[in-house]
Amino acid sequence: MAETLVQIEKDFLKYVEKIVAYNEAIAVMAWDLRTGAPKKGVEQRSKVIGLLSAEVFKLSTSSEMKYFLDALLSEEGRKELSEITIKTAEDCKKNFDRMNKIPAEEYEEFVILQSKSESVWEDAKKKAEFSIFQPYLEKLVEKTNRFIKYWDWEGNPYNALLDLYEPGMTVEVLNPVFNEVRKGIIPLLEKIERHGKKVDTSFLFHPFPKEAQRELCIEILNQMGYDFEAGRLDETVHPFETALNPGDVRVTTNYNINDFRVALFGTIHEGGHALYEQNISTDLVGTTLAGGASMGIHESQSLFNENMIGRSRAFWKRNYSLLKQYSSGQFEHVDLEDFYRAINEVKPSLIRIEADELTYPLHIIVRYELEKGIFNEEIAVKDLPAIWNEKYKEYLGITPDHDGVGVLQDIHWAGGSFGYFPSYALGIIYAAQMRNALLKEMPNFDELIEKGELNKIRQWFTEKVHRFGKLKKPLEILHDATGEGLNPKYLLTYLEEKYTEIYQL
Ligand code: ZN
Repeated sequence: MAETLVQIEKDFLKYVEKIVAYNEAIAVMAWDLRTGAPKKGVEQRSKVIGLLSAEVFKLSTSSEMKYFLDALLSEEGRKELSEITIKTAEDCKKNFDRMNKIPAEEYEEFVILQSKSESVWEDAKKKAEFSIFQPYLEKLVEKTNRFIKYWDWEGNPYNALLDLYEPGMTVEVLNPVFNEVRKGIIPLLEKIERHGKKVDTSFLFHPFPKEAQRELCIEILNQMGYDFEAGRLDETVHPFETALNPGDVRVTTNYNINDFRVALFGTIHEGGHALYEQNISTDLVGTTLAGGASMGIHESQSLFNENMIGRSRAFWKRNYSLLKQYSSGQFEHVDLEDFYRAINEVKPSLIRIEADELTYPLHIIVRYELEKGIFNEEIAVKDLPAIWNEKYKEYLGITPDHDGVGVLQDIHWAGGSFGYFPSYALGIIYAAQMRNALLKEMPNFDELIEKGELNKIRQWFTEKVHRFGKLKKPLEILHDATGEGLNPKYLLTYLEEKYTEIYQL
């Protein structure tokens, strides 16, 4: 290999390490900001984060970066260099192209519009008045449409946005999958509402001291295989997981004294995200590949842990006495079966983040159909509230009283994050498909959970998913782990079996 290519590779990896270092610094500061930084420091801190982010932007889009990418991704480079170097360069190139194709001033305008829109949205949501937010959303859509024209994509224009969060995902793949999911869930939901045996949940809502909740959460994280020497658990308003590097993956939770489920299932969810990041191969540290493959694959890990383990009967066979031990007597006279049914209650709700496992995908499909309509110029922004309400009626059987609990509920559109929502539903579909593949290799899945041997399940995911970081694309990971492409059948079978039994249909 030419001497110069070796040197360029070395310089490139060093250059990337610097970008990664900036990002780690930004992530620590952002974590600190959300977990108790002093109020008076917030403004300056936000400014510092902004300045460092601008540095990252400069480094990622510089002429130096272009020089590296041209050399490394040449025919010779592709032949000679390691997989990690090439994939890192490809990852950097994707970002480079995306950012460089947008004129700098247009991008700046967009960033300003984003932050302004978020505060306008907050106000509009509070007042439940879509018309306040509408002109901003129209501008965000218009600017995003311009970006789409600058970028390379094939097929449907909405594919350009899907690719931001779920590399390689397209409308052509999603349409039939989401249709099948919708057509599978709605009749099951109707059956539950018509014929299902009522579920009592009253015993869930009793005072459960915060300190006891925290101790329980720590025990469960340990059981999951979360490594406390490579992480920590803190308190926030909006729970999240943040990965600084595989040796420092932090989770946060929110404690509701009268509803222990918020902290417990929230912690299991964020813990699932964290298991992914803690088990990424150390070979990838210092490159841009040391992170999740996509939003959807990430969500598959959190939802698998939260729902398919944390809300399973086997899990509670093991942990119900532990829960009783930490709580203040609220479950004394509740048997395990009633408890299991209560934490799996199905109840269509207007609010996405409060949705149960069965109805959650319907919330996402509504948003997907609306976004796709907007970017195919089939739906106008001004008509969103009405179409939103119609779809909620049709899919979930409920209608919002006002836009605050309808079209205005999520922050995503105000932040200009179009194409993000589908990842949430993809996460569940991926998770169910992986569960099916796992069951074939580990028919004693329930037994492992009941024995608390979650580490064996975690190892399977590390082998098939975690360790690769961004070395593979989402559909490649899915295919290699399960032997087939995206198939919603496994989610529908899982839901059908679980809820038919719970509701004694
Ligand atoms: Zn999540």
